[in-house]
Amino acid sequence: MAGKEILQKFKKIADQARQIDDRNLYGDVLSLQSDVMELLEERNELEAQNSSLKQAADVAAKVKYEAPFYWLIDAGRRDGPFCQHCWDKDGMLIRLQRSSIQGVWSCRTCKNSYR
Ligand SMILES: [Zn+2]
Repeated sequence: MAGKEILQKFKKIADQARQIDDRNLYGDVLSLQSDVMELLEERNELEAQNSSLKQAADVAAKVKYEAPFYWLIDAGRRDGPFCQHCWDKDGMLIRLQRSSIQGVWSCRTCKNSYR
């Protein structure tokens, strides 16, 4: 249920409490409304967190190790190579750069070289 709908329901109940002049009920409704809004904010944060975890899992499923590099394989398209050390240690896909030495790739983040 959307936050806007919930707020409208609380407003309706709060208005009824005011009409019957029940200050305790009115206060309880406002307090409950505040608690629910806090829960909705937490839910939004968890949804955002869940979405970013899903994205990370999606990327991880596409990362393949072919010694000594990692490759990102998506729909048959192969991208990379990426640094083995940085992925294994920090889960970061760091693109390797060709070094001046033929056949040697280097990582500008961890400074490892691969051949
Ligand atoms: Zn690295």
